[in-house]
Amino acid sequence: MTTDEHEIQNGRSSPAGSDAESFPVIDPSDEADLSPVEIRERLEKSFKFAQRIQSLSEVSLQIDGGGSQEAILDILGQQTIWLIPHEFSFVALLDPARTGYVIRTLPSLAYSTNLDGKHFSLSDGMAGWVISHKRFVSTELKSCLAYNPEIEGALADLNLTHLLAVPLQTCDDTIGCLVLSKGGLEPFEKEEIWITQLLSLQVAIALKNRKLFDDVNKRITQIELAHEIAEKLTSTLDLDALLASAADTIRRTRNYFDVTIFMVEDGEDEAVLVAHSGNYVDFLPHGYRQKLSEGMVGWAMRNGEKVLVNDVTQDPRYVAYEYHNTQSELTVPIRIEGKVVGAVNVEDTRIGAFDETDGIVLETVCDQLGSMINNARLYDQLQRTNATLTELDRMKSDFLGIVSHDFRTPLASIILAAKAMVKRGSDLEEPRKNEYLRIIVDQAERLKQLAEDTLSITRHERGQLAYHFELVNVERLVKDALNAASAFVSRRHVIDHRVDPNAAYINGDHMKLRQLITNLVSNAVKYSPRGGVVKVTAEPYDGGEVLFSISDEGIGIPEEQFSRLFKKFSRVDTADAREIKGSGLGLWICHEIVTGHGGKIWVESTPGKGSTFRFTLKAEQEMP
Ligand code: ADP
Repeated sequence: MTTDEHEIQNGRSSPAGSDAESFPVIDPSDEADLSPVEIRERLEKSFKFAQRIQSLSEVSLQIDGGGSQEAILDILGQQTIWLIPHEFSFVALLDPARTGYVIRTLPSLAYSTNLDGKHFSLSDGMAGWVISHKRFVSTELKSCLAYNPEIEGALADLNLTHLLAVPLQTCDDTIGCLVLSKGGLEPFEKEEIWITQLLSLQVAIALKNRKLFDDVNKRITQIELAHEIAEKLTSTLDLDALLASAADTIRRTRNYFDVTIFMVEDGEDEAVLVAHSGNYVDFLPHGYRQKLSEGMVGWAMRNGEKVLVNDVTQDPRYVAYEYHNTQSELTVPIRIEGKVVGAVNVEDTRIGAFDETDGIVLETVCDQLGSMINNARLYDQLQRTNATLTELDRMKSDFLGIVSHDFRTPLASIILAAKAMVKRGSDLEEPRKNEYLRIIVDQAERLKQLAEDTLSITRHERGQLAYHFELVNVERLVKDALNAASAFVSRRHVIDHRVDPNAAYINGDHMKLRQLITNLVSNAVKYSPRGGVVKVTAEPYDGGEVLFSISDEGIGIPEEQFSRLFKKFSRVDTADAREIKGSGLGLWICHEIVTGHGGKIWVESTPGKGSTFRFTLKAEQEMP
């Protein structure tokens, strides 16, 4: 091998180098020694070379205008074949991890291999050697330094014999290499190597520019993504919605294949899948539990560190799932005040899908996500505290309402009776005096009962008043209640009652049932301002029950108001009803008492004609 050949084989020659001898131009100092034929040959060679350089500069311009990596490779494929005679070519592109390369075959007129898209390590084939050593190689295929059966073997199978591999290199940064191969006995010519080197330089610059441009775009997307996430996430404090929206936004803005978010509770050894957005439709379900001791997600959360793996088959931490074909995975922990509370996990079906920018973007997003989750949690806590406070406040108002409403009635009776006794003094006949005393004792008893009920309400036992069940004679109960209500009845009203002897007994709390009937009777009177008949009946109902009905001929209630009547503080909203004072508690208390006895209460009414309130209680047999 001559020095020149040696140089070529070892790739030291460079287009910008000082190896002027190998450049096929006429050196004027040589001219005297050359014969006219030699001069002509040299001239022809120089002319051809100049033509090629011109074509090269045209191709370079086209490559320079390539709008994407794909476009640049397309132009390269279409033009190289005319510029440097060869039969098969490919570009090997260094992967982001810089440990391997991916082959992109360029269009060939006659040959095809299945090398396109394949990933190899830098120790494989001449392309790997050239990228690692940053030198070009022009060699016979069979004697190349790093013969790989899959790559060089594929070329040999096509009966190709020579290979020229030139690094794609700008300054000292190698991004891959261009490989040309041809058959026949002749190696690649010196000029061809020069042209290939010049072309590779153009391609490297164009690809590098494209990458820089893409990187800038990525950074812009990063800022946009961070901004979009911040905007979206600050607009919701609902944690589930926030996480779902975060997974979706991350996937969409970065065009990722699949994004999941895991959260971990303090002290737990499993993380829970809380949000998913992506193409793995039947991926792990919501609520899936991932052990912290397993997988990339577990590792990232355990160690509080980002994991970026561009070929999961090479990483022992990866847990493979049969039903999906992840090749690259990126997991970034989410922290709140330095503590890991979750992780965002991104998966892709391509090898080498992520680079450092993806990692940085996701870290920024996870930082934001941490503080948003914290805000949402604090808000949630605040909401719950607020709800408790509101409930306490409502209970306080209820209590005041009950005190003012239900305490007023017995107090009024006591005051009336006491006043009458004071006024009439010793003139009062014995039976009358006893009657007044009975009212005072009775109503004082009722007050005591009410105080007990109210206390039990404030003890969070609303709707569960303490009942003292006993056998109650219905006739006596009704009379008792009418007696208590008599203080409110005007002369315009007629009170009528009828108890069916077949509904003689019930099991219940006498005091509370009396309060119930009194309430309904006093309402019947109150809401019949023009007087009329108020009827109280009790009769057997639906097999083992007693049906009580309290009807009046008063203002009535529109049907659409029926459903809210028995709710606390609810009053009928009509002009007639508004004129009559009340607190809206009486019917709620009635409802509590009836349901406390296991019965039902409802109303039937026609506005302007009157209302009937009905309730049912379980019938009892008379005591033997
Ligand atoms: P209050 O009478 O103190 O307002 P209630 O709970 O006893 O409270 O009654 C709730 C509402 O139901 C009343 O405001 C009234 O509008 C309506 N109501 C109750 N009883 C009758 C009745 N017999 N006839 C017409 N309206 C009634």
